[in-house]
Amino acid sequence: MRYPGLKITAAPSLAELTSIRLGGEAIARVLAEDEASLDALPEVLAGLGGKAAILGQGSNILAHDGPLPLVLLELGEAFRKREPRLLEETGNTARVTASAALPLPLFLNTLFRLGLGGLSGLSGIPGRLGGAIAMNAGSFGQEIGDRLRRVRLFTPELGIRILEEEDLDLGYRRFTLPPSLRCPEPGGWFLILGAEFLLPRQAPESIKAEMQSSLRRKAETQPLNLPSAGCVFKNPPGQKAGKLLEEAGFRGRSRGGLAFSSVHANFLVNTSGRGRADDAFALILEAREAVLARNGVLMETEVEIWP
Ligand SMILES: Cc1cc2nc3c(=O)[nH]c(=O)nc-3n(C[C@H](O)[C@H](O)[C@H](O)COP(=O)(O)OP(=O)(O)OC[C@H]3O[C@@H](n4cnc5c(N)ncnc54)[C@H](O)[C@@H]3O)c2cc1C
Repeated sequence: MRYPGLKITAAPSLAELTSIRLGGEAIARVLAEDEASLDALPEVLAGLGGKAAILGQGSNILAHDGPLPLVLLELGEAFRKREPRLLEETGNTARVTASAALPLPLFLNTLFRLGLGGLSGLSGIPGRLGGAIAMNAGSFGQEIGDRLRRVRLFTPELGIRILEEEDLDLGYRRFTLPPSLRCPEPGGWFLILGAEFLLPRQAPESIKAEMQSSLRRKAETQPLNLPSAGCVFKNPPGQKAGKLLEEAGFRGRSRGGLAFSSVHANFLVNTSGRGRADDAFALILEAREAVLARNGVLMETEVEIWP
């Protein structure tokens, strides 16, 4: 059966779709090109078999080697072409709406052009707006959730829904659906389609200075020349994961083509671009155990592990 508005390809390689360049082949990749096609997704998934995995730009994903029992769901090109829109201005603030498929850097540049601040500290974070919301991405004291006012999303059980500010539940690298929208079965999923933000007016030159400072600090402290998925571990309460890893001797520790970076111990880098996920997982396990034994702290991964 053909599904207009859905582009389906078989056996996509996660190594080609993730920034760390690791992982085997999923069952299929399904690109949704319009909202009308979303209702067909549950049927398509049932036909293909496997678990739904929502893919943004793949900058926070570490997938296993070998065949993966996953069907990747993604917002297609048509969603990416939608420009952010200024909805309303009140006093010193403005409401802006944007598609989840938009690359985060493009969204931040649009805010700069509109003279809207509040998120400039996020400059330098790769990925799409949907991925940033799902992860509540943040840096230098700002998180995307700080400015979110509404989220539009699709769930296979309820279709398109809008979450209002009072329904939004975000925490450190976490976005959780309210119980009324949560699927009771394991394997439940949701697709963020777009969001609305409330942002403060700010002089463009000061926004630009903040964006440049954020980019500069990241370039100085992160191994941006090698494939990675950003920080591997979340910072445990009151502590820095990078410092714990460094103290446990993991800065520069390598296995196969993977290594904890010598520039930033919490970045796992794929040094040749052709490493194996098995080596990444072995290093992660080793580091977790070492920090647990040394500091009594069980570190949680920030990177999403698939499946
Ligand atoms: C060099 C580098 C630096 C980084 N620096 C930072 C940093 O400073 N701060 C920070 O927070 N992160 C950082 N990251 C991690 C990453 O960029 C962010 O988590 C980013 O927001 C992920 O966006 P993405 O589109 O790539 O999502 P993906 O990696 O594709 O997905 C991440 C998660 O979000 C879910 N998801 C993605 N899109 C949607 C959607 N539309 N609907 C529902 N769920 C969705 C996925 O299922 C997955 O669970 C860095 C990564 C790299 C490679």
